[in-house]
Amino acid sequence: MDNRSKLMVGNWKMNGGLTANAALLAEILQGLPDVACRAAVCVPSVYLPQVGELLSGSALAWGAQDVSAHESGAYTGEVSVSMLRDMGVRYCIVGHSERRLYHAESDVVVATKAQRALAAGITPIVCVGESLAEREAGQTEAVVKRQLAAVIQANGHCISEIVLAYEPVWAIGTGLTATPEQAQLVHAVLRAQLQAASEHAERVPLLYGGSMNAANAAQLLAQPDVDGGLIGGASLKAADFLSMLKTASR
Ligand code: PEP
Repeated sequence: MDNRSKLMVGNWKMNGGLTANAALLAEILQGLPDVACRAAVCVPSVYLPQVGELLSGSALAWGAQDVSAHESGAYTGEVSVSMLRDMGVRYCIVGHSERRLYHAESDVVVATKAQRALAAGITPIVCVGESLAEREAGQTEAVVKRQLAAVIQANGHCISEIVLAYEPVWAIGTGLTATPEQAQLVHAVLRAQLQAASEHAERVPLLYGGSMNAANAAQLLAQPDVDGGLIGGASLKAADFLSMLKTASR
């Protein structure tokens, strides 16, 4: 599977349980022989040992949803990159809007998390996106560029090793989806910004996230700069997630 094949990532958020995880993954694994895109699930960190064991040797990678900006020490409740590496994760989401919003994560903190992940050999899935108020104020481009600039500044030439996800905040978990044209416009802006920072920018997968589902995935994925999806709610249903993986395999 080449680096240009689509990348589809499920974000389970704070959902799941030992029994439900096993059932969901068993059903997804059954359908994987028909899938030709790259795929991963980002799960709550306590379930990484279980998920790693269930997915080991399969074509479905696993990842975390966040990581500490600190290396180790007195940071109660946090999980470090070396701990994630012990769990065999390939990916780690950083800067999801729910972290930026509910945990006051700044652009600099998000950039540091991406840096820590890269240094540990884990691919950060860096999320950027504007709120509804910012979109309505005509600030979409400025916001996503500011968020990405912090990550570029902290990571220099390593920037081509990240995965970037455009997730308009107003589309996450709301049932509202950016139109394919809206998504493409922002993706093109982000691609240009990456190109200005690295000659290898073409290899950065640009994912769209925000109420992507089995019905709208094909149109979004058909856009030239949409290289895959970051999928929340619809990744919790095996049939829907598999359907999107198959769409991304075409
Ligand atoms: C997400 O959590 O990253 C996401 C895109 O969620 P949803 O698909 O549920 O909008």
